[in-house]
Amino acid sequence: MTIEIPPRSGAAFRLNAGQRLRVIDPQGEQVSDMLAFKADDVAEVISSGRSLDYASKLYLTTGDPLYSNRSNVMLRIVEDTVGRHDFLLTPCSKDTFRIIYGDEQPHRGCFGNLAEALEPYGVTPDQIPTAFNIFMNVTVDPATSELKVEPPLSKAGDHILLEAEMDLVVALTACSALQSNNYSFKPIHYVIEG
Ligand SMILES: [Zn+2]
Repeated sequence: MTIEIPPRSGAAFRLNAGQRLRVIDPQGEQVSDMLAFKADDVAEVISSGRSLDYASKLYLTTGDPLYSNRSNVMLRIVEDTVGRHDFLLTPCSKDTFRIIYGDEQPHRGCFGNLAEALEPYGVTPDQIPTAFNIFMNVTVDPATSELKVEPPLSKAGDHILLEAEMDLVVALTACSALQSNNYSFKPIHYVIEG
C-alpha cells in the first residue's frame, strides 16, 4: 500500500527488523527528511556523524549502512535510483526560514513536522538530530568548502529502498524548504514492504 505524505508535512510509523521502506519521489525534485529511532529505546537514534565517518564519504547509496549514535546499524540502503542524498544539514525549521529566508511568519518546516509526528513515540524536539535527507542535493566546493543546495537529481518515480536491521520508529517528511525542492512543494510517497 502506497501512503502519501502531502506537501510540507510529515509522518511517523513503526518499521520492524527485516521490513523494507521504499521512499518514492512521485513528481521529481522533492526531498524527504528521514529519522530513525530504536523502537524500544528512543535514546538510540540515527547518526550522521557515525555513518559518514564509517563510510568515509559524503554521499551514501546502495549497500551503505546508516548507523546509530551507539554504532549499531539501523538501516541499510538496498536500492537507490538517484545516488545523491544529504546527511550534513539539519531538518528545515522555523529558524531556518527566519535566518536564511528572512520570513516573518515562518513555517514550522520539517523539524516541526517531525516533532509532531514523533511526539506519540516519546521523542522530544531536543532529541531530533541531523536527518538523512533523501533526494537532497548538497554540493561542496572542493576549493572553498562552500555548501550549495542544488535542485534534487530525482525524477518522477525515482526511489530509495532501505531495510531495517532493528525494530525502529521512522519519521519521514515532504520537505518544506524552497531551495531544497527547486522552489515547489510536492508530496512524497512511501511503502512498507515485508
Ligand atoms: Zn525540510
